Amino acid sequence: MLIADLIRRACRQYGRAPALIEGDRVVSFAEFDHLTDRLGNALLARGLRPGDRVAVLLPNGIDAVVVYYALAKAGLVRVPLNQRETSREHAFKIEDSQARALIHAGEPPVEPEISIEAGELPRLIDRGSAAPCAVTRDPDEPYRLAYTGGTTGTPKAVVLTNGTELAEITNFLVDLLPNLHPGSVMLHAAPITHGSGAFFLPHLLKGACNVVLPRFTPAAFLEAAERYRATTTFLVPTMISMLLEEPATADAKLPLERLCYGGAPIATSVLRRGLDTLGPVFTQLYGQAEAPLAITCLQPYEHTPERLTSAGKPYTLVEVEVRGEDGRSLGPGEVGEVLTRGPHTMRGYWRRPEETAKTIEADGWLHTGDIGRMDEQGYLYLLDRRNDMIISGGFNVYPREVEDVLLSHPAVVEAAVVGLPDEKWGERVAAVVVTRAPATPDELIEYCTGRLAGFKRPRMIEIWPELPKSAVGKSLRRAVRDRLITASQKVESRG
Ligand code: AMP
Repeated sequence: MLIADLIRRACRQYGRAPALIEGDRVVSFAEFDHLTDRLGNALLARGLRPGDRVAVLLPNGIDAVVVYYALAKAGLVRVPLNQRETSREHAFKIEDSQARALIHAGEPPVEPEISIEAGELPRLIDRGSAAPCAVTRDPDEPYRLAYTGGTTGTPKAVVLTNGTELAEITNFLVDLLPNLHPGSVMLHAAPITHGSGAFFLPHLLKGACNVVLPRFTPAAFLEAAERYRATTTFLVPTMISMLLEEPATADAKLPLERLCYGGAPIATSVLRRGLDTLGPVFTQLYGQAEAPLAITCLQPYEHTPERLTSAGKPYTLVEVEVRGEDGRSLGPGEVGEVLTRGPHTMRGYWRRPEETAKTIEADGWLHTGDIGRMDEQGYLYLLDRRNDMIISGGFNVYPREVEDVLLSHPAVVEAAVVGLPDEKWGERVAAVVVTRAPATPDELIEYCTGRLAGFKRPRMIEIWPELPKSAVGKSLRRAVRDRLITASQKVESRG
């Protein structure tokens, strides 16, 4: 069964009911079917062939959703790009995925063979054939590509198929959202290129409405949640902190049944405040690009004081194991790497067979790179990441990438980039550099502007005479991080 067939069936069943809302624009299920058919046909008429990659660089909104599912119907492979990244980052992903087309709002970072500006979409849709667009493809072929970073900092694309998508939908419907019905409403306040996008199909397939906010602000979120009677939402931990800072949140009468959060560690203090203010609606999701948001979940009733630091239990169709350095499966309480297996995992990295072989075992177990432990009842506790990836505001920052930019400055000889704990952003990017010529921290931060997306830019830079090194001369990020944290604690205890 293909995603496209499921969409068509739901659209026929729920016809005139609202499927999608953005501001004052409402699209019914029947219209959604129609728009995605026409656009899918128009894209094929432009010369795209099933299996071709199409990069999409659009803001959160109805247009982006229509494009995503037109691609699904036409058998084209979606490559969503995050608007907050720089043109250089976009250009890399467009080239690496060998995208034949780019659908974009604003300046295109590069001009692939086919470039479609968002303003052209209505014309394309009008011209596209209204016949049902249904391209049959092998369900094991790529359905979408999701970019991740990996330990070296070079982004890699994760290949997700029709099958991985179906597993994600099934896990969501069974474990998270078993009561969805045509009166349910999903509020997308976080980018649909990331976690929030995973909630779209479960709602659509059950006749529920998806409301898309162009941009998250606490006020816009509260207003939309009340106005549309939102029953489900997904926020990254940073957004929850921001929402709790907003005085109006405490008085809001939110109809939310589930406030899902995840994608990054959450501070327990934030979670406690959230539960006090918004009630027992919090649901934690743990996943990664390689196994999208569906490894474990912590249900609202499991948010008890002793479990607040847990990421929950595996979804119905998911296996999870913690293994030691030697590959041995560990018992309760023992700390090791988290592995997962099941139909929810990626098929591999796009055109990187060696990386794939290192990440997925022959018997299907996927190495997550996360370090954790499981308790007697099967609850997973995540401790750290095996590599040094930083997650700031829900977005990944790979230290190496930031270091490379700092090192391209003529005065910088060495650089180490680490994440420091931050109540609001989860982590904030900090750097320590060794210089060969005079340069101020402000000057170096300024240098990173324009060369790195805002969320990757160091918030703080220190200049040290030398960096701590390992025996083989590699700079030790962990030691740098520990020294920065100790120094800030000293300042705090003095202040
Ligand atoms: P990404 O591939 O961008 O989705 O990042 C995935 C990584 O984010 C995971 O491997 C974890 O390290 C982290 N992560 C995701 N969800 C959670 C969670 N609920 N709690 C702690 N860390 C998480």
